[in-house]
Amino acid sequence: MTADPAARGFRPTRPPAPAPRAAPPWILMYHSVADPTDDPYGITVAAHRLDHHLRWLRRRGLTGVGVGALLRAHAAGRSRGLVGLTFDDGYADFLHAALPALRRHACTATVFVLPGRPGGSNEWDPLGPRRALLTESGIREAAEAGMEIGSHGLVHRDLTRATREELLAETRHSRALIADLTGRPPEGFCYPYGVFDRRVAAAVREAGYSYGCAIDPGPLTGVFALPRTHISQADGAGRLWAKRLRPRRGRLTSLPPAVAARPAQVGGRR
Ligand SMILES: [Zn+2]
Repeated sequence: MTADPAARGFRPTRPPAPAPRAAPPWILMYHSVADPTDDPYGITVAAHRLDHHLRWLRRRGLTGVGVGALLRAHAAGRSRGLVGLTFDDGYADFLHAALPALRRHACTATVFVLPGRPGGSNEWDPLGPRRALLTESGIREAAEAGMEIGSHGLVHRDLTRATREELLAETRHSRALIADLTGRPPEGFCYPYGVFDRRVAAAVREAGYSYGCAIDPGPLTGVFALPRTHISQADGAGRLWAKRLRPRRGRLTSLPPAVAARPAQVGGRR
């Protein structure tokens, strides 16, 4: 199959065009939902912990939704009762550990998958432990359950070090593969390790995505550099409340000309 979705008849999805002066909405970042005992990178929460988080949100009048839906509501001035939920890396445990809790609390989420590693594992993490990734049918199952499927690239590489060909493959080919699996090209892209620069963000936009998720993009904050809050097993109600109150800096515009003119790299752990 061809790597270029545009060549296969996919039109870029229309950017949600949030109000230019709006501060970014709150987006939570999860990874694996499993036993967090052996977790050197702090990316795992237990299923009962996720359940507590979702109950906590619902009791405060907040509903978890995917980022695409969140941005559309944000653009229309209707995002007050919404919070974005994201699950990076597309771990197989999403289906049996996260999805039941999301359903229980009437929430949805965006799952950022790696279509270049179907049924594989997190080999990019040298310390392990190895965790299974969603298979192609698992990705389809998550989409059919009403979850938004976004791209995390093909194989989880640092895109700021990628060649032009690798960057095209990670953005465009991953988009085409997900479109083949789910029947619709993904709206969202999530930068592996949270790192990106002007070139990477431009490639994501040009590949037809409508938004890009980062972690702590600082002055680069925009539709293609959305900040997210890392959530861990250690987050009880008190810490969640503190994270909720933490000011979210920046404005939700698309990449401003100043950014385009000034190469910059920002990053986070994941
Ligand atoms: Zn990742």
